[in-house]
Amino acid sequence: LSPDSVPTQAERERYAELVDLVQKYRAAYYNEDAPLVSDAEFDLLYSELEKLEALHPELVTNDSPTQTVGGEASVAFAAVEHLARMYSLEDVFSLAELEAWLRRAAGSVEKQHGTAPQWLTELKIDGLAVNLLYRDGVLVRAATRGDGTTGEDITHNVATIKDIPQRLHGSNFPAEVEIRGEVFIASKDFAVLNEQMVAAGKAPFANPRNSAAGSLRQKDPAVTARRPLSMFVHGIGARQGLHTETQSGTYELLKSWGLPISPYYKVLDTLPEVMDFIASYGEHRHDLIHEIDGIVVKVDDLATQRELGHTSRVPRWSVAYKYPPEEVNTKLLDIQVQV
Ligand code: NAD
Repeated sequence: LSPDSVPTQAERERYAELVDLVQKYRAAYYNEDAPLVSDAEFDLLYSELEKLEALHPELVTNDSPTQTVGGEASVAFAAVEHLARMYSLEDVFSLAELEAWLRRAAGSVEKQHGTAPQWLTELKIDGLAVNLLYRDGVLVRAATRGDGTTGEDITHNVATIKDIPQRLHGSNFPAEVEIRGEVFIASKDFAVLNEQMVAAGKAPFANPRNSAAGSLRQKDPAVTARRPLSMFVHGIGARQGLHTETQSGTYELLKSWGLPISPYYKVLDTLPEVMDFIASYGEHRHDLIHEIDGIVVKVDDLATQRELGHTSRVPRWSVAYKYPPEEVNTKLLDIQVQV
């Protein structure tokens, strides 16, 4: 079949079914913090949707899940417009796909600049994306990602997380900067939290990601305050008066301001080094502070990031490699998720 062949009735019906399923599962995951299926099952349905669209581009609409960032701001929280849009990440599920992606991106950068890019490699933290807005060094607002344009105001809840400074350390801060990162529950804290739940006669949480998301999206910040939430920052949105040249250089600046930066990131020159990073963390993924669901590779140079730009859903200068699921334990999902 050529990519523009007319979809059959059966394909149209399957497509509509997939869109409904993905939207339903996204709503449960992002809005209720209570997934109905495993991530691996969700990723399979999403890939099937992408493949049908690649085969029949006429099926794609602007509101297709492949064109939008998942999650809607709940009416339980005040809506917050992000100053700069928040994106998702392009996923690849095999090393061959990753290599092809990196070669393509390196080729296009080399054509433009004469040299291949340096790669910033990081762990893909399995947490909840949060946007922190600092004005003159003071945290004035915190919000969830939502649909990427509008998130939920969780400023009071974020104020209970000790990793996140209310006031940046030092001086000479930019007038305005949006700092993005992942809120998570560290593996050892999660184990203690679940022991406490069981000791109190309550159902344990299904996994750290959903308990972190549920803990942060509480109406009562006092509940959030009792949960062991941590954060690592991994990106910048709007910036006014912040002049850095690389993503890694930005991290070091953020660190000097007292923001929590992951200890695991590396700047690498070659593709084999990136592959080694992935193999090494694939082996040691359970020896880390937090759970991961993959590795993120970013072009380190910010000017090159700007040149490569974004699609409506993802940056073109970054890719997420997802490790194969270790074991799909759908039983866990039967446990009522506590929030
Ligand atoms: P994603 O989780 O694949 O990647 C994007 C997000 O990764 C970013 O928004 C960012 O917050 C986060 N991230 C973590 N570490 C990062 C780092 N070092 N650098 C940059 N970003 C980092 O995409 P998504 O759109 O948030 O969610 C899709 C994924 O969520 C699916 O692949 C699936 O695994 C899961 N999901 C599961 C269900 C379910 O029902 N189980 C439903 C919806 C989504």
